[in-house]
Amino acid sequence: MIYFDFNATSPLHEAVLEAMVPYYRNFYGNPSSLHRIGRISRDAVEAARIQVAGLAGASASQVVFTSGGTEANSLAICGLADVLPPGQILVSPIEHSSVLEPLKALSETGWTVRFMELTDGGRVCERFLESAIDPETRFAVCMIANNETGVIQDIQRIAEQFRDLGIPLHCDGVQAFGKIAIDFSASRFSFMSVSAHKIGGPKGVGALVFDKSVRLEPLLKGGGQEKGLRGGTENVAGIVGFGVAAEIAQRNLGENANHLFRLRQRLEQGLKKLPSITIFCKQEKRLPNTVMFGVGGMDGEMVVMELDRKGIAVSSGSACSSQDTEPSHVLLAMRVDREVARSAVRVSLGSTSTETEVDQFLVVLQNLVSGAHQKASGY
Ligand code: PLP
Repeated sequence: MIYFDFNATSPLHEAVLEAMVPYYRNFYGNPSSLHRIGRISRDAVEAARIQVAGLAGASASQVVFTSGGTEANSLAICGLADVLPPGQILVSPIEHSSVLEPLKALSETGWTVRFMELTDGGRVCERFLESAIDPETRFAVCMIANNETGVIQDIQRIAEQFRDLGIPLHCDGVQAFGKIAIDFSASRFSFMSVSAHKIGGPKGVGALVFDKSVRLEPLLKGGGQEKGLRGGTENVAGIVGFGVAAEIAQRNLGENANHLFRLRQRLEQGLKKLPSITIFCKQEKRLPNTVMFGVGGMDGEMVVMELDRKGIAVSSGSACSSQDTEPSHVLLAMRVDREVARSAVRVSLGSTSTETEVDQFLVVLQNLVSGAHQKASGY
């Protein structure tokens, strides 16, 4: 099988699994317990916090563990909304559903959600922000890199516009984390969500990295865990796995990015030779592992299913919304024609992807596209 869907999830690193097993098998203590076996778990959680903070460019005391990127996004958004008077929230229209859905719920309780304008390349228009920020603007949300197109925002500049006015900015860093360098402390954003399973860690673990000067109400209130910001007994083994995955990602960041960039170039050169392929956002700064393209005259979901029959796993957009028949909201927000958007396919590579796999993928895709063209022209 060729797995080219790393933005949906990534396989667990062997070293991560090995690090996790003892915390299921032997070290089952509750991190809140005072006894020795409890302290072993607590120490493991704190060691993982340092590892995750290291990859985020933050200090360990700025990391709160959650059940994943979705919960971290909700914690930032609902946690801010709980301590601020209702007003305007500015958000980019290309966010993941775990950002858009809580905002939709807030819009039904007196909040005004205003979408940021985008360039055709999928980047936030900075000039729009200048006119949209007003005294009613309570906070803003903008992802660092998009899960579908891979487009990387100039998040530093966006953050400066908000920070200078004292307006908190929450950044969804789930796709950027571990793929490009992030320096939370040097950045000027207030919160950043990250997730373990996108970087070779386990599913169901994530974190919110936060600026301690911004107040936040916990989503889950309980036993005071995570400095009162996230109640509930910690997922010790999962957190340990997240820590190891973060450390591996940090160690290999530069080398991995180069490997992925080279593979993506090979893939895009191959795609350009095929008829009726449009690579989206190809002029933009993108994650080194991500390519989204349209296959003219074909339905993206059909292409995904045909590739699956040949043993190749890709996505027709965001994996989390692959049940949707609507074209990608990300492409529509970039004013891509509906039919072209419907033909979108996303390939997301990973550290274990190879040139041979890229070449095999291109051959299979070429056969698929030329078969469809022959059918359409009646041959
Ligand atoms: N944010 C983005 C940009 C994502 O791509 C995803 C998952 O695909 C999430 C958030 C949700 O993360 P999790 O699966 O850890 O809940």
